[in-house]
Amino acid sequence: MPRPKNAMEIFIQLDKSNCRECGEMTCLAFAGAVYQGRRQIKACPKLDLTVIEQFSDASEIRKALDQNGDEYLESLKREIGSIDLAAAAERVGAVYSVGKLTLKVLGKNFSVDNQGNLSSDIHINPWVAIPVIDYICSGEGLNPSARWVSFRELKDGKERYPLFHKRCEEPMKRVADIYTDLFDDLVRIFGGKQVEQQFESDISVVVHPLPKVPIMICYWRPEDGMESDLNLFFDDTADKNLTIGSVFTLGAGLSQMLDKLALRHGFPEVESPE
Ligand code: SF4
Repeated sequence: MPRPKNAMEIFIQLDKSNCRECGEMTCLAFAGAVYQGRRQIKACPKLDLTVIEQFSDASEIRKALDQNGDEYLESLKREIGSIDLAAAAERVGAVYSVGKLTLKVLGKNFSVDNQGNLSSDIHINPWVAIPVIDYICSGEGLNPSARWVSFRELKDGKERYPLFHKRCEEPMKRVADIYTDLFDDLVRIFGGKQVEQQFESDISVVVHPLPKVPIMICYWRPEDGMESDLNLFFDDTADKNLTIGSVFTLGAGLSQMLDKLALRHGFPEVESPE
């Protein structure tokens, strides 16, 4: 990522609450310190992971995402304690029983109790846990409309789309290119459903990383000297049921998970070109 041209470029991304959690008196002071290289952008706990990516160099990105993801996850877990979990379960298409909300993440049970403790049949990492808790705490719980749109058509998705394409769609395409059973496994292991080909793709599979946030993965095989292609589509209610940052995180998490699945099947790790 090119270095920001001035501190204002960083400032406009900040929360502007002057909350001082970063240790600076104001957001403007923090932006100046980041611009001068005295502070790292990840020291502001209120930033989306996507903004951290924009202003971190490649070698720092994964570390920063993991660290900030963990901190952000802890703050979301605290928020769980302040909401009515039974009402939330009804809103978001989950089940509530004995102080615990349970919903399906890619066909597997994922539970959270009113202390914010998480348990699941799948591996819990920030890539999964953050969108799940965000969905429970602030999702509107709208039923999907079955109108598919790209990430860039979601609210605030346009400016983040280049990064989304680079972090989610490109790596997933490279996995699909080498791992030909990918789409069968998405159906078999993660409760996905192959649907009629959409947007003239060769394969279209719908998965449910969250009950009311389906994702459709469309893949075009290479042909006649044309490269393959892969795009993710979201229901047009996705930006009401999740923040755009969590939609991004969900896509990135899915991509990372499929990369690991391919690795387990003996395919080499898919590197992101920087
Ligand atoms: S923690 Fe973030 S939002 Fe709070 S003052 Fe620092 S830069 Fe601003």
